[in-house]
Amino acid sequence: ALSARDSLYIVMNFAKEHFKGLLKEHEEGKSIGLSYFHERGFNDRTIEKFELGYALNEWHNLEETALAKGYSAEVLEKSGLVIFKEDQKHYDRFRGRVIFPVHNLAGKIIAFGARILTKEKDQPKYINSPETEIYHKSNVLYGMYQAKNAIRKEDFCFLVEGYTDVISMHQAGIENAVASSGTALTEEQIKLIRRFTENITVLFDGDAAGIKAALRGIDLVLKGGLNVRVLLLPDGDDPDSFSKKRSSTELKTYFQENTKDFISFKIDLYAADASRDPIKKAEAIREIITSISVIPDPIKRSVYIQETSSLLKIQESVLLTELNKILIGER
Ligand code: ATP
Ligand code: MN
Ligand code: MN
Ligand code: MN
Repeated sequence: ALSARDSLYIVMNFAKEHFKGLLKEHEEGKSIGLSYFHERGFNDRTIEKFELGYALNEWHNLEETALAKGYSAEVLEKSGLVIFKEDQKHYDRFRGRVIFPVHNLAGKIIAFGARILTKEKDQPKYINSPETEIYHKSNVLYGMYQAKNAIRKEDFCFLVEGYTDVISMHQAGIENAVASSGTALTEEQIKLIRRFTENITVLFDGDAAGIKAALRGIDLVLKGGLNVRVLLLPDGDDPDSFSKKRSSTELKTYFQENTKDFISFKIDLYAADASRDPIKKAEAIREIITSISVIPDPIKRSVYIQETSSLLKIQESVLLTELNKILIGER
């Protein structure tokens, strides 16, 4: 007999095929969904690789198609595909949106993200599947299924913010990128990356929110015992928009030339003119030491203290005293 989980995998696979079919065969799907993806510069190979789809702008299209094929109302509810209200009202969760299936490591569909196409103010830009028996969003990174071999091969992983960032980088030939997709990064997601590499490059949107998320990401990665570098984009750009303006070669060169280790990133962020302003310099030092303090490996901590010492021209002993204060304070 099928387990509850198996029947969820099966109905999610059915829904994925349904959404893919609508994108490629249905008039509405082609004229609205497919042309949207093409306008964003996604080619058909990319669309196929990420199994992108379209949900019709109707209340019961998926539900009725599924019921006609023998899927139960119960499994449709448990999968999150159909929303049931107490008063017996029910409707498809995803309507009039382009669909981004989320694959698990084996390539099975465990969730969907869906983007709106019009600019309705009262609607969220993206909606996602709810937590289910097969989908725990804090354990999942979007694109890991498509990225895992490249991550192993390159021995590092780009961590980006969104679905379209992963897809555009992939199309530009940078296949080792995954996204936290709107949820704040978790320890479990870092552990997932650690199965493939110990090196993470945080590549968030070039805006205030992106910098804030990057700072949080840095400490989480360090805490997980992994190595972290940071790549900051020009303000207003994200990896998707940025990659559209450049060739693959230009993109790779930019990434290579602008990736910083987290110490340099923090120095540049907190104290561009640290050498002249002692207050800013002190602030930068505290910020850096705080990050170093979460690194579990004492040898790595010591290496980073040395680096900070030489970059900021401050005695190692001073930095070590500060570090030890934090380390002791935590116990
Ligand atoms: P696009 O390029 O399609 O406009 P984006 O990925 O650049 O999308 P951001 O606003 O940078 O969008 O958000 C990053 C990620 O956060 C999105 O890819 C999505 O996963 C998630 N997200 C954005 N807005 C929402 C929302 N309103 N509700 C839930 N998740 C969201
Ligand atoms: Mn953003
Ligand atoms: Mn973005
Ligand atoms: Mn974007």
